[in-house]
Amino acid sequence: MGLHDQYGLTRVINARGPFTPLGVSRSTDGVASVTAEALSGFFVMEELKDLADRTIAEATGAEAGTVVHCTSAGITLSVAASMTGASQSRVAALPDTRGMPKTVLLPAGHAVDYGHPIVQDVRLTGATPVLVGSDAGFTLDELEEGFARPDVACLLLVSSRLTRGDDVPLAEAVALAHRHGVPAIIDGAAQDFRVKELLGTGADLVTVSGQKYLGSPTAGLVIGRGDLVRAVRAQEKGIGRAMKPSKEAIFGVVAALRARHETHQQAWEKEQHHKVARFVERASGLRGISAAVVPDPTGLPFPRARLSVDPAAAGLNAATLAKALQSGTPSIWVMAHDQDKGELTLELVPLTYQELDVVLGRLAELSQT
Ligand SMILES: *Cc1c(COP(=O)(O)O)cnc(C)c1O
Repeated sequence: MGLHDQYGLTRVINARGPFTPLGVSRSTDGVASVTAEALSGFFVMEELKDLADRTIAEATGAEAGTVVHCTSAGITLSVAASMTGASQSRVAALPDTRGMPKTVLLPAGHAVDYGHPIVQDVRLTGATPVLVGSDAGFTLDELEEGFARPDVACLLLVSSRLTRGDDVPLAEAVALAHRHGVPAIIDGAAQDFRVKELLGTGADLVTVSGQKYLGSPTAGLVIGRGDLVRAVRAQEKGIGRAMKPSKEAIFGVVAALRARHETHQQAWEKEQHHKVARFVERASGLRGISAAVVPDPTGLPFPRARLSVDPAAAGLNAATLAKALQSGTPSIWVMAHDQDKGELTLELVPLTYQELDVVLGRLAELSQT
């Protein structure tokens, strides 16, 4: 008997992407078995962290990397590292910031809310987030003004579909921070496929999620400059104690990175395109629904399926359809952020063909009643 039946839990088909309230992602059997094996062993945790460091550096080309509890923890601990450096007394003092730089600059449109506000990750260290520009965007002149403050610890940037405003030239913002002698951190939680590109902006630290597309147990990877990664690790004797990675998560990350290295990326992408094209072709035949293959808005290497609902022909609008999908058994979750425009978006990466047929079957039922 599966866990859902055993504990009376709702069965879910997740076409919403790596969505935290639904358990984020699926690990492969390989990652799951390494994780399970880790649980029954003892390890010298420092050795395990050194293994993660080497594996992340090899996989990304960065100088160093480490694993913390999650991306959110990665943001907090990266900010803390920029405030404390290698000083053990500073690590022990946080969130008391006396004598440390404590302003964290971030573009206003990057003050995202991914279930909680990212500025709270900053405030947890004792630092003060200071927003630059407006939701519409920011200019490098406005950022320059921010750096005029005497106490700037770091610049925090976000690469996500959640950011608002004109696309920020990340590399130029990073270069500006460096001209002021300040490190730049990028939160690229769901952008693990693009981590080399994000490091290519010159950013000192990039944080990505283990449990999103990488498919490890819950973990945050902090990747970049050796001295700053060591300063992130040093936080475990301070505020990072509450954000530490488990042994099984570190093993899971190492296994997932190795598996990704062995994956034939082009074949994987071709399979994703095939899956979405097949789904779109079948969904297009349904009454009142037209479907299209659309690219990922952040440049991730797989497409999504977009359904446009014609309420007159389908007998229900996009919002009602999304609600009906969710309230059935199994509960089907789609991205409904454009439902007012009559559109629903589905991300199919973790789904099996069998699950896709269940989704198509339900769409057919709902658009004909
Ligand atoms: C998911 C997400 C996070 C948080 O990731 P966790 O690993 O759940 O802490 C942070 N930033 C962005 C942009 C995200 O999408």
